[in-house]
Amino acid sequence: MEQNIRISSLNDFLFCPKSIYFHNLYEDYERQVYQDTPQVKWTINHENIDNKQYSTSKNILQWFGIYSEKYNLVGKVDIYQTDKKTIIERKTKISKLYQWQIYQVYAQYFCLTEMWYEVKKLKIHSLSDNKIYDIPIPNKEEIEKFEKVLDEFRKFDPSKPFEANPEKCKKCIYRELCDSY
Ligand code: SF4
Repeated sequence: MEQNIRISSLNDFLFCPKSIYFHNLYEDYERQVYQDTPQVKWTINHENIDNKQYSTSKNILQWFGIYSEKYNLVGKVDIYQTDKKTIIERKTKISKLYQWQIYQVYAQYFCLTEMWYEVKKLKIHSLSDNKIYDIPIPNKEEIEKFEKVLDEFRKFDPSKPFEANPEKCKKCIYRELCDSY
């Protein structure tokens, strides 16, 4: 049976495949001990959602578990507006929209639609500057690219030689532990 892929792991994989190892290593560890400031801010943002501090609107479902049997994906969705059929992923600050952020919302979209929720819009909300990024619903070509990434994830072998991207390493929270840095 194929293993489930956590949506959060998929994010790390898209940033750098090697970071998956560290992601798993720290999975059960106290988060604040190793997270840099941006990650801590992210955690606080999500705790607000966890604690239902975001909104009391009956049209908003917050931070709930999602699953796709088709893609073996598991994770959580930040916010789903039931009236607007919109998924909103919140980020602390977005200075540039990266592919992994888009794929994170795609993953939520695939899970929710498979769970029979109707989804018409995808958005990413950059909190610090209050900007909203509209993400188009994935078309056939985007779906194929997404599926290719899932395939690469499953086939990735960390024991094989790996060429790090120094620019990514500089921003990586695992850099002090990584032998590729
Ligand atoms: S330090 Fe570089 S190679 Fe290592 S996990 Fe981070 S981004 Fe990847």
